[in-house]
Amino acid sequence: MDATLNGDTVGLRCDEGVIAEVGPGVSAAAGDEVIDGAGMALVPGLINAHTHAAMTLFRGFADDLPLMEWLEEHIWPAEARLEPEHVYWGTRLACAEMIRTGTVAFWDMYWHPEAVARAVEDAGLRAVVAVPLIDGGDPESARAKAEEALDLVRESPSGRVRAGFAPHALYTVGPDSLRWVAERAAERGVSVQIHLSETRDEVENCIAEHGVRPAVHLDRAGLLGPSTILAHGVWLDEAELDLIAERGATVVTNPVANLKLAVGGLFPYPAAREREVPMGIGTDGPGSNNSLDLLSDLKTFALLQKNAAFDAAAVDAGETLRLGRGEMSDLLRSPALGAGHPADFLLVRSDSPELALGELDAGLVYAASGSIVDTTVVAGRALMRRGEVEDAAEAAARAKECAFEIGVP
Ligand SMILES: [Zn+2]
Repeated sequence: MDATLNGDTVGLRCDEGVIAEVGPGVSAAAGDEVIDGAGMALVPGLINAHTHAAMTLFRGFADDLPLMEWLEEHIWPAEARLEPEHVYWGTRLACAEMIRTGTVAFWDMYWHPEAVARAVEDAGLRAVVAVPLIDGGDPESARAKAEEALDLVRESPSGRVRAGFAPHALYTVGPDSLRWVAERAAERGVSVQIHLSETRDEVENCIAEHGVRPAVHLDRAGLLGPSTILAHGVWLDEAELDLIAERGATVVTNPVANLKLAVGGLFPYPAAREREVPMGIGTDGPGSNNSLDLLSDLKTFALLQKNAAFDAAAVDAGETLRLGRGEMSDLLRSPALGAGHPADFLLVRSDSPELALGELDAGLVYAASGSIVDTTVVAGRALMRRGEVEDAAEAAARAKECAFEIGVP
């Protein structure tokens, strides 16, 4: 394909969803579908480690409100009207946007997870689709429903979709259900995603109710392990970071959603890095970001951390990209670009105004956004070529109809 990789002109051949060869001198074999990589750089795809993808349906709805008012008075009532078909098209629209902006895999938690899984299958991406759990009035029936949903998600035929549990947060899931999730997830060998320490109120309420801070409470339920993702972690203190590092859970920062919902704090990244806490980055849902362009959020992440540290060297572009590619967590990590590894990669326009001069990593983080991506390949299939995503127009039209049906203006 004649793209550049670390300064060399290379070719890459895929076979059955796997990279067969990559390097200088690799050229197409008879019968290969060929993508021209001239003027492009070959780079790994991004891993969006925290999303509620189908919330594209709520994009631009009830913006500019405080977090709990936004959730309780607007989002939760509209979500009560959601049917699987709505979630399917909302997720398809999210997938189209993620493909367009260079994400190859995402970690999702949302209602009707079987519809999320179907959408991911059809869109061609990879995802860990977590089945949500909120105790509500009847925790036992909520657990039974989550278990049923897990079975449905696990039936994904391609292997690109994996299932997990998503107890929503400590303020919506009680200790009994948390322990149940810990046991069931261990038995079934699946991961867990939970919101943790997003707001200061949440931390204060946890201390008032349980006598300990959120990470300690989660640990007592048996849920703070290497297969757990903690979304946000804004208010984690040093003792919690020590504990998380010891247990090996992954903290996923969502800088843009935190800014938009004005949580007033910042994930203590340098302190977490010092302790070698596994980490990733996510956009959070399109209702609270509102974009799924993770490349653009990488810049925000780096700038916020530099500014908060009073130090322009606090985080660099290469490190920021590693965070965005899931390379700081064994749970998130996808294999590097090499023979025998899954054929997931991007071609970015290295001859564009944003990337033509200077170092590629710095250009990607500080000058470019997701629009720089020309081609997105997952499991050897080009989901976008020359900036065109298959079925994107249909996904937008159908998602718009679905939003109207659930009463989102
Ligand atoms: Zn979230």
